[in-house]
Amino acid sequence: MTDASAQTSLSTPVQYLPGVGPTRGNRLKKLGLRTVGDLLFCFPRDYEFPAPPKSVDQLRDGEPASLVGTITDAELVSRSPGKSIFGAVVENESGAVRIVFFNQPFRAEQLVFDRRVMISGQPKLNGLRWEFVHPKVTFLDEQSEIDRPEILPIYPLTEGVKQHEMRAWVTAAADALVDSLSEALPETLRQEATEALRAGGMNLRSPLPDVQTALRAIHRPEDRDALLGARTRFVFQELLVMQLALAMRRRQLTTSLQSSPLTSSALLDARITNRFPFELTGDQRAAMREIAGDMGRQFPMNRLLQGDVGSGKTVVAIYAMMLAVGNSHQAVLMAPTEVLARQHYQTLCRMLADSRVRIGLICGSLTAGQRRDVMAKTASGELDLLVGTQALLHGIEFKSLGLCVIDEQHKFGVRQRVALRSGGIDPHYLVMSATPIPRSVAMTVFGDVELTTLREKPPGRGSVKTYLGRPEWQRRWWDFVRQQLNEGRQGFVVAPRVSASGANTQQGPGELPDDAETELSSEEDVSSVEAVFRQLQRETFPDRRVALLHGQLGNEEKIRLMNEFAEGEIDLLVTTTVIEVGIDVPNATVMTILGAQQFGLAQLHQLRGRVSRGTHTGHVCVFTDGQQPPQEYERLQVFESTDDGFELAEADFRLRGPGDVLGARQSGLPPLRIANVIEDLDILHVARQIAQRLIDEDPNLDDAQWTALKAQVLRRYGKRLDLGDAA
Ligand code: ADP
Ligand code: MG
Repeated sequence: MTDASAQTSLSTPVQYLPGVGPTRGNRLKKLGLRTVGDLLFCFPRDYEFPAPPKSVDQLRDGEPASLVGTITDAELVSRSPGKSIFGAVVENESGAVRIVFFNQPFRAEQLVFDRRVMISGQPKLNGLRWEFVHPKVTFLDEQSEIDRPEILPIYPLTEGVKQHEMRAWVTAAADALVDSLSEALPETLRQEATEALRAGGMNLRSPLPDVQTALRAIHRPEDRDALLGARTRFVFQELLVMQLALAMRRRQLTTSLQSSPLTSSALLDARITNRFPFELTGDQRAAMREIAGDMGRQFPMNRLLQGDVGSGKTVVAIYAMMLAVGNSHQAVLMAPTEVLARQHYQTLCRMLADSRVRIGLICGSLTAGQRRDVMAKTASGELDLLVGTQALLHGIEFKSLGLCVIDEQHKFGVRQRVALRSGGIDPHYLVMSATPIPRSVAMTVFGDVELTTLREKPPGRGSVKTYLGRPEWQRRWWDFVRQQLNEGRQGFVVAPRVSASGANTQQGPGELPDDAETELSSEEDVSSVEAVFRQLQRETFPDRRVALLHGQLGNEEKIRLMNEFAEGEIDLLVTTTVIEVGIDVPNATVMTILGAQQFGLAQLHQLRGRVSRGTHTGHVCVFTDGQQPPQEYERLQVFESTDDGFELAEADFRLRGPGDVLGARQSGLPPLRIANVIEDLDILHVARQIAQRLIDEDPNLDDAQWTALKAQVLRRYGKRLDLGDAA
């Protein structure tokens, strides 16, 4: 043992650990454990906390309990070969209980008269006596008079690897290696973190432990305090390493990329804001100030502007674009779909009608000649603002691009920056999203992005009422819809699919799909817009103007329908999620969502946003198809319970996990091993603050005290975040 441990290092293949060997070593590989070091840092996924020992009168039927006592009677009865019952009595001052084992004759050799044990299990009252069938038994000797059982680690397992084996191997790995580990967190740093965490309300008994103490305690905690201390240390360490990498990258971006400073002045500010036909909200003003501050610097702004649907992000973006134009630079606005691009184009044209600002639109329906013309004017600087869909704007040449605004971006990660440069100068970036990102995620996945949030809604907004519709309500609901239409309002009916038998979406070249209509299923499809449209038009609302809009229509057709709806020439628009993003028709107040279980929370919320744009109260009713009523779906219940996009985002995050919500896998960051950005948000805050301070003081962590820490940052994030320069 001493021999083996003397030679063992972190990189020793796990099979050489005593008791493992090649066969089990291969099994461990399935868990991603190749080296003894991997095993050492394979943190328990959970712990078992055996119930504290009780006295006999505290036992309750079926409630897990432990009891300490002495064996006072034992008997093995063999019925036939292989069939046996072993029964024994465990007694202490508070009374006696019976324990029973079937077909485990070896128990008779262990559980002998006078032996002290602790048993754990679920007691059942059998007659007048409590009985434990197959309890867990811990043998106690005279000295270890424990009143508190130990906490047991629970490791991830794979086929052929048992829990007790993992426990033994991890213990062996720890014995062999713990003392040789180098400390990445100097004591002063641990002290600083401890104080910050305590100030944040965390109940840490002792300061964050050193790596030796912490590793022993994370695998074999003596008590809950020791476990909390150890876990907190490793969570903090993991988050600190990540935040250091992100802080280094932020710093690199600000020092290596060059942008034109686009400065603001009171005059320019007034000239821009005077164009807006309404009073700006406080949040909009604050966002504009932040953006102006960013754009005035020599390095690119990288800001995410998030706000619930209808919070008025577009106005803020227009402000930023006008700031660029006021500085004699161009700006580009990218939308995810052609419909949205056109809507933005029209908004801009309207707002800037009497100005000298020249605006261009580039989209799939332009002829080659028109397209060439717009591109030439963009390159020559004849156009100040260019609006278009993302795909079509790639590779376009600008005379002097100062700002790039990206609308309704749901998925984008640390590494993704749109490749738009002009003359070696990087534009400032403003990204807008209506899918609010929980703060915790913004600090991790979007770690090098500054965040601005519009929480306040423009005044005079109607609220939205959301109902979970039972199938048998449908008729009454349509009566309600009719009533709304009679009052002059308009409505949406949304279903997840185009048709029961349809083909795939047709897309123009280089264009993003307008919506994510789900793949069609072969079974009979009650939630296809075509079926719903036919039914509503023929049976339910034959006297009303009902229209059908979906992503398979041509762009011209889509735009014509949207315009007709906006003009009030259509009463009821049956549609897919093509209307999910951005469409703005204030007179639309009532929305019916069919097949709602097929939509994600964020999507539902986006949809709901379409009927909260005017001064009238909006009404949304969701129906599911199939057997289950909407009340059965947790997601839909959450949707009904709150209208706050941020609460929904947090809930979505909880229900689906961060990866799904954000496409975090695309973010380029490795998964976290022990930290959970939702549960460990407080630690994340502290880690981020400390990381920023360390990088401010020592940008490349060159000081000798950071050697081990820096090595961890580079090992884990160096390649992914291009931190090469710092190496
Ligand atoms: P979103 O954040 O969803 O992109 P928009 O920018 O499209 O929101 O704004 C939604 C609507 O609210 C638009 O019709 C816009 O003109 C209007 N609006 C924006 N800001 C204000 C404000 N401060 N006061 C009144 N209306 C506003
Ligand atoms: Mg918008």
